[in-house]
Amino acid sequence: MNQFAKPFAAPRKSLGQNFLQDPNIINKIVAALNVQADEVVLEIGPGRGALTDLMLPLANKLHLVEFDRDLAEYWQSRTSSLENLRVHSADILKFDLSVITASEQNPVKVIGNLPYNISSPVLFHLMGYADQIHSQVVMLQKEVVQRMSASPGGRDYGRLSVMLQQRYHIEYLFTVPPGAFFPPPKVESAIARLTPFAEIPHPVKNAELFGQLVKQAFSQRRKTLRNTLKGTLTEEQMALVGVDAGARAETLTVGEFAALANSAASD
Ligand code: SAM
Repeated sequence: MNQFAKPFAAPRKSLGQNFLQDPNIINKIVAALNVQADEVVLEIGPGRGALTDLMLPLANKLHLVEFDRDLAEYWQSRTSSLENLRVHSADILKFDLSVITASEQNPVKVIGNLPYNISSPVLFHLMGYADQIHSQVVMLQKEVVQRMSASPGGRDYGRLSVMLQQRYHIEYLFTVPPGAFFPPPKVESAIARLTPFAEIPHPVKNAELFGQLVKQAFSQRRKTLRNTLKGTLTEEQMALVGVDAGARAETLTVGEFAALANSAASD
């Protein structure tokens, strides 16, 4: 059924409701998840079903988490005729993914055209379940995807890049113009694929401490580590793991951040 033939209320701006309407883009996003017949998928924010309708025939089971009660009710009403559909009327930021993953044998795939106002919190929330996730294909504001996938040394490289790249292999797949949505957002969007590392290349001893150190290091981008990490690590400790105290956070690799955090953790 065409999504616009369904009886829906006007899009709610407060819930970031920009619905996809370009069939080529919709096909490309679903293809990027590469759903196999025995796989379980979680879709965040199905909305009117642009992605959902395509995935329903592909997935072994499709879980939807939708915050808009009317839309969640609509999808709930469809569960009677679609036996692979499960609906959770919930805020993804408060949703315990293990409700889904605990009952599945294999890691689940996640897809979502995410509400842009909560995109970073959603990514951080999902990171808590990364070991139960096969991969994620998400649509975000283009500049957020640029930051997620940025390399050291550039303007886009920051806390989000380091935190996500420590846990995931990140791919910037393609850009999506405003005209692909109804109503069109003011900004360009992009699709990212995040695949948790089977073996983490730069493991950290204490994830919380790693997070704090990265945040602290980027708190004042123009200052050197000597200043931003004062009280956390001495210059000697930095030198011991091969990091120059006169460097700025934006020049450090994920491996160097991990080494700094691990040396702080062993004290
Ligand atoms: N997937 C649809 C599409 O591509 O057309 C809708 C995408 S729209 C950008 C975002 C969707 O997320 C909306 O359906 C909205 O109601 C839902 N949403 C907003 N905040 C949410 C939250 N905190 N938890 C779960 N869903 C949320």
